[in-house]
Amino acid sequence: MLKIKLHWQILIALFLGVLYGMFLTGYVDYVSWMGTLFLRALKMVIVPLILSSIISGVSNIGTAENLGRLGFKTFVYYVSTSTLAIITGLVVVNLVQPGVGADLGLAQNVEHLKVTERSFVDTLYSIIPTNIVEAMAKGEMLALIFFAILFGYFIMKVEHKYKTQLTDFFNGVFNVMMAITMFVIKFTPLGILGIVAKVVADQASAGGLLNIVGKLGLYMISVALALLIHGTVTLPAILRFVGKLNPIKYAKVMTTPLLTAFTTSSSNATLPLTMEAVEHDAGVSNKITSFTLPLGATVNMDGTALYECVAAMFIAQAYGIDLSFTQQIVVVITALLASIGAAGVPMAGLVMMTIILSAVGLPLEGIGLVLTVDRILDMMRTVINVWSDSCGAAVIAKTEGETLKIEETK
Ligand code: ASP
Repeated sequence: MLKIKLHWQILIALFLGVLYGMFLTGYVDYVSWMGTLFLRALKMVIVPLILSSIISGVSNIGTAENLGRLGFKTFVYYVSTSTLAIITGLVVVNLVQPGVGADLGLAQNVEHLKVTERSFVDTLYSIIPTNIVEAMAKGEMLALIFFAILFGYFIMKVEHKYKTQLTDFFNGVFNVMMAITMFVIKFTPLGILGIVAKVVADQASAGGLLNIVGKLGLYMISVALALLIHGTVTLPAILRFVGKLNPIKYAKVMTTPLLTAFTTSSSNATLPLTMEAVEHDAGVSNKITSFTLPLGATVNMDGTALYECVAAMFIAQAYGIDLSFTQQIVVVITALLASIGAAGVPMAGLVMMTIILSAVGLPLEGIGLVLTVDRILDMMRTVINVWSDSCGAAVIAKTEGETLKIEETK
């Protein structure tokens, strides 16, 4: 039988999905169920996968010093790449000035968004769960990660007998979860066909797939351009100069998760595929993937951080509010915090915008201005979020002295 590589299958599915959504808009229910089932299956894997991977990852790290070193490197990578992303966004939005003279009639009603004003302090509190089962049920990733790190850490500390039993057990669970993930991944093309057809059909009936006219179009171009620069210049440069890796080779093995990130707009839903690609295709050790990637999917969002900054600046320009240099610095810092606090789910970034807008005193209704085109920008920024997580895992692996599989092939 003709065997087409998975990423080609996905690309074909994406293309067919777009055609289906455009021309068979009324019949989208016939395929959208595949997308729904695929997303459900991915979400089913996430909680046990994160728990088992972090617990086994941390307990395999061996010593507290190693954990501290790895944690520190991960933190430095996340904060510095997100900051670079925000600065890229800030420069582009100041050059293009998409909001100057914008028509505020574009603003939409945002009431249905259920904009929760969760402050940054609340987010910090929520890292410590009061009930771990509830955190699992609600998919509270930060709480889950915190608990898993603690659990893994203290496995290292208990009596030798228990330590081996527990490490074996969690390694076993992790392997099973990866096997289930690989099974689910086989259905990616069908899932993507369903999701894309639905998204395209919804957008088409909501009045135009891409509202790329006027200021909103310019705003989209600014976000896209800044994301492109970050994804194809900054991150590859870090891969090349810090990680001593060939960025093109690395991007090739990441095609499947990146395309999935694009269609699902969710770093969390993509996580199982990211882990599979980084570990098995690129050859980063399990120790590093299982620690950095689940953390990255929740905490490290370069695309979201950049987007937050450009959107806030666009809103300020549209309302004719001149932000001072200090206020722009506040935008940069809050964009970073908002991206850390945002969950890896669709539209999380849009909701976190409230934090930035209130920090610099911009009208919250401004969100209505960027709402129409958020879906498509969400797809793009999620790709960059996942790409940055993947680059991070590889770079950290290299600084830990690992040799990756992709370096061995010519
Ligand atoms: N959808 C993004 C993600 O999952 C988060 C966001 O809305 O920016 O990575």
